[in-house]
Amino acid sequence: MRILVQKFGGTSLATTEARSRVCDIVAANQQAGYALVVVVSAMGRESAAYATDTLINLIKEVNPDPLPRELDILMSCGETICGVLLANQLSAQGIKARFLSGEQAGIVTDGNYGNAHIRYVNPQKLMECLENGLVAVVAGFQGLGENGELTTLGRGGSDTTASALGVALNAEFIDIFTDVEGVMTADPRIVENARLLDSINYNEICQLARDGAKVVHPRAIEIAMQKGIPVRIRSTFTDTLGTMVSNRIGKIDEPVRIISDRLITGITYTSDIAQIKISTSGLDDKNTVELKVFRSLAEAGVSVDFITVQPEAVMFTVNSDKAAKTNGILRAIELIPEIELNCAKVAIVGAAMTGIPGIMYKVVEALADHNIPILQSGDSYTNIWCLVKKEHMQMAVQALHDKFELGNMNSL
Ligand code: ADP
Ligand code: MG
Repeated sequence: MRILVQKFGGTSLATTEARSRVCDIVAANQQAGYALVVVVSAMGRESAAYATDTLINLIKEVNPDPLPRELDILMSCGETICGVLLANQLSAQGIKARFLSGEQAGIVTDGNYGNAHIRYVNPQKLMECLENGLVAVVAGFQGLGENGELTTLGRGGSDTTASALGVALNAEFIDIFTDVEGVMTADPRIVENARLLDSINYNEICQLARDGAKVVHPRAIEIAMQKGIPVRIRSTFTDTLGTMVSNRIGKIDEPVRIISDRLITGITYTSDIAQIKISTSGLDDKNTVELKVFRSLAEAGVSVDFITVQPEAVMFTVNSDKAAKTNGILRAIELIPEIELNCAKVAIVGAAMTGIPGIMYKVVEALADHNIPILQSGDSYTNIWCLVKKEHMQMAVQALHDKFELGNMNSL
């Protein structure tokens, strides 16, 4: 049996017309001889009636700090509603379909509310559907914890569902359908001349996704990579091929062409970051202050990023929604932090940039050309990150994209 797992994101399912387009894609692939598993997200974005954020707001109106178990049950409803509708719409178009919840599709998680990891998949029920010629429509983002409780998989969780099912069923491809043409050199909503990458290896896409290119969830790629299942990231709304993620391209009978890492793959950003600075000069317990800071934050479960420890200062970032809590924790240990609330992290990502001279120079020059102050910076083998004020984020991403000539066909 040739199996395809196809995941459709929120905007691809937002309206009856969009879902009708999804039905056409499913029909075409069925006619091409594939058995199909369709994984759905909740319909629409932010303020849409059954979008995940709408459901979260509903519960937060009655309790700003919701019960995690009940919050997961509520959040999982978005995918359930959408999947039930799609299965019915397929059926109305003459395509036999059956809806399965995450649990029915055999997704078993570690039981962690809000951010569960998939432990394994029991695909019997899914296989039954496929063997009977039914399209299986699966609610993404949800799975049953080993303790028997419903859990959700965190943001981008439907991508992870699709990947796990693709691996469990040994699918020919895992298709991630979304509202852009594929993986691009930068977010096309921010950079007008962002260019589609028609093929990319697992390593490169993981780097981009971990650094904020939300077009696919990094965990989904890590799972697909374990079995080397190719992932196609493509648009629901155009007939283009999109981006092929794999470590080799070429047909079975052609010589293997390995896709090597690019020097620079793309520019990413993440916003809603707060920078915390603590000046340690003049403190009596100067030598143990960082120990106290990071211990208190760890005990309170606040995750920190972008850490710089210097003889006279400790700096790090937290998500903006943790800024007030962090401030309270630090004041409780008698430290007065300086907090820069609206920051963003921009990054250049390129798995082959390691050891190439002059890259940091170009980064600094690109930002200086536009008078964008760098609040902090960091680097690894494959990335250079700069923290900037959020108001400079868009300009910084464009400036870096231009400086490395990523919009130019010959640049990669
Ligand atoms: P879906 O609801 O289909 O899962 P997402 O909003 O999660 O869609 O992801 C798609 C979005 O990712 C695009 O609309 C685009 O704005 C954003 N994006 C960010 N970086 C990139 C990139 N490098 N390439 C393509 N899209 C990107
Ligand atoms: Mg997504």
